[in-house]
Amino acid sequence: MTEQTLANLFLEARNRLYKTILEAEGVGTKVYANSVLEQLNRELRRMRAAGNRFVDTRVPSQYQRGLDAIYAYFQSNHLRMRRPENFASIHTDAVNEIARNMQHMIDSSLVTVGRQVQRYVMKAQDEVLRQAGLRQTGVKVASGGTVSDMRAALIKELQENGFMTVQYGSGVGARQVPVDAYASMVARSTSREAGNTARLNQLTENGYDLVKITEHYPTCEVCAMHQGRVYSISGKDKRFPPLSKAFSKYNNIHPNCRHSATPWIESMRTGEEVAEAIQKSNRPWKDSRSAREVALYNSQQDKNRQARNTLYQYERYKARLGEDAPKSLKAFTRIKKAGGSEWEGLHEKYKNWLYEREFNDIIDKKGTLSNYQVRKWYKHHDQAIVSKLDPAAPLEARSRGAHALRNQYRQEARELMADREAAEKLEAENPSMSFENLLIDKMIRKNISESAAMQDIIETSGTTNRVVDRTLGLED
Ligand SMILES: [Zn+2]
Ligand SMILES: [Zn+2]
Repeated sequence: MTEQTLANLFLEARNRLYKTILEAEGVGTKVYANSVLEQLNRELRRMRAAGNRFVDTRVPSQYQRGLDAIYAYFQSNHLRMRRPENFASIHTDAVNEIARNMQHMIDSSLVTVGRQVQRYVMKAQDEVLRQAGLRQTGVKVASGGTVSDMRAALIKELQENGFMTVQYGSGVGARQVPVDAYASMVARSTSREAGNTARLNQLTENGYDLVKITEHYPTCEVCAMHQGRVYSISGKDKRFPPLSKAFSKYNNIHPNCRHSATPWIESMRTGEEVAEAIQKSNRPWKDSRSAREVALYNSQQDKNRQARNTLYQYERYKARLGEDAPKSLKAFTRIKKAGGSEWEGLHEKYKNWLYEREFNDIIDKKGTLSNYQVRKWYKHHDQAIVSKLDPAAPLEARSRGAHALRNQYRQEARELMADREAAEKLEAENPSMSFENLLIDKMIRKNISESAAMQDIIETSGTTNRVVDRTLGLED
């Protein structure tokens, strides 16, 4: 099993679970919790099995490759080296330890992501109970709000924290990555660790003490400091720095590093070469990269970061737009790269998602929206009032319907506002009028008949107050 195969298995498991969480029926109910948790356990089992298979096959084979390569190198250079089989127990112990470490990393990452998913599910259940409690105390909770509330809360959570992510690295370099990316990085690091450890053990057992760290460009600021130097494995050869200065206990410079330790045989070098190596190996300990190399390295890193961000962005789009989102990450990336009207349309849909939702669907946003957002939401709904009226209904029924919807949206808009002071001010200055009062008010103010006033109520239902629009930063 290769690193790529392992990463793909993890990715597939993660995608299947993501789909279940977003699409299973009855968010917040026991049935929902059970189907998500059952799926979670299935996927965790699959990922654990894949990790085990990698550890059992790939780790020994990568270690063996390291041994074979170094033995062949010594043979071809007519250097004395006893066959690796002579040190079987040392090699076996090393393989087992590397395997145990990797298994531990994968297992703990699975525990972390498993807990994350359990938390989503519990949160959804808590919210449903909370709302049931509110209803019992007589607080008006919009009916039908629950399910979409939960979905909205879930999406928000996913958007903020990412889905099934694990911390990778530590200190300033630490970042949250999806569990499949994590597994792939651990697998690659472990494979290199196996190769390095094999070489170091076989060299040490044969009495060789010097290794050289490979060089490649561009590289990171830490590896730049170490690459190309010759190190003493034991640290006893004082002409060279000890390998422990470069390598962690995992026999690498840092996780996911591509550098390896290769044999450096003094008897194959001239006196001049040795002197040069000693000098180079004791050069100052600092980032020695040229400005060009730094720029190249950073642009490569940027590209990787962008690819990661596009993945997270795609997941947010999928969570919010469901069927309306592109079917795959590949399709999404293509549309985004091409730009133009297709991308703009998709982006617009994503952005306007909030404004097109019914109040019940965004009830978790109560008291959180900016004035601008609220006004935009209100305008969107007001403009749709006429289309919601039954054209076959009598004039009075349509007029009453338009009036009721407008009052409802106004009320809901005020509930959405984060600025409670402004909301109360609006309430005081523009109180809702009863249908009858509005009718009389219009007939007197505009000097029109009752049926003309009813018609007027319908026609003006889609227009919002210009002055208020402007005060709230919305003009068009
Ligand atoms: Zn590096
Ligand atoms: Zn490196």
